[in-house]
Amino acid sequence: MALLKVTDLSVNYGVIQAVKKVNFEVNTGEIVTLIGANGAGKTTILKTISGLLHPSAGTITYEDQEIQKQKSQKIVAAGISQVPEGRHIFPGLTVVENLQMGAFLRKDRDGVKADYEMVFERFPVLKERRNQDAATLSGGEQQMLAMGRALMAKPKLILLDEPSMGLAPIFIQEIFDIIQVIQQQGTTVLLIEQNAAKALAIADRGYVLQTGNILLSGTGKELLANDDVQKAYLGG
Ligand code: ATP
Repeated sequence: MALLKVTDLSVNYGVIQAVKKVNFEVNTGEIVTLIGANGAGKTTILKTISGLLHPSAGTITYEDQEIQKQKSQKIVAAGISQVPEGRHIFPGLTVVENLQMGAFLRKDRDGVKADYEMVFERFPVLKERRNQDAATLSGGEQQMLAMGRALMAKPKLILLDEPSMGLAPIFIQEIFDIIQVIQQQGTTVLLIEQNAAKALAIADRGYVLQTGNILLSGTGKELLANDDVQKAYLGG
């Protein structure tokens, strides 16, 4: 079943058409990846789903409701959490306080408490550093904190914007492993990545975006094996 369905989505910045009549869907339980070069429109699509931008045309349907005109707070409350590019943790707040910010819309105190434990279990380094100023975490640790904070909102759908960007190889593998754990524990994932090889390897399905258009789609395996994808995105 489609949890999220994007239909004929167009998004403009003034006269620049960044996204042009894009169609794709994310089914419950899947990892779906959008891959594409710099400027292809990936971040714009994520920001539009999370309500930070509004489309010039098209619809975004989530759990059978159109959400493209809704405010981001309402979209978060409905179960969609975004981890933005570049992390955007709150400096000056500790690790625990950053996690609290993720749960600020929730009223189920016991559930929130259980989810701290879940996040600390998935990211042991955050537990070790729970009372440290988040600004002093390494890049990889900040990425984990941003993912942990998004999970504290208990999302049905998590939107990940280039989680591997700027990370050392050892952290990159860890982040992709954690994305699979997030899926296994029941959260649906929409993943945007420049690291196409790694993203397609864990994705159930993927879409290739080029200058605002979807060029190709298929299972992760199909796209990995595709000659055009190999040449353009996998250095083959
Ligand atoms: P990257 O991988 O480099 O982050 P992307 O696929 O996420 O790229 P977007 O950030 O969605 O691409 O950008 C799509 C297009 O929209 C680009 O041509 C970009 O220059 C343009 N764009 C993005 N934000 C703005 C803005 N605030 N004002 C004007 N143009 C913008």
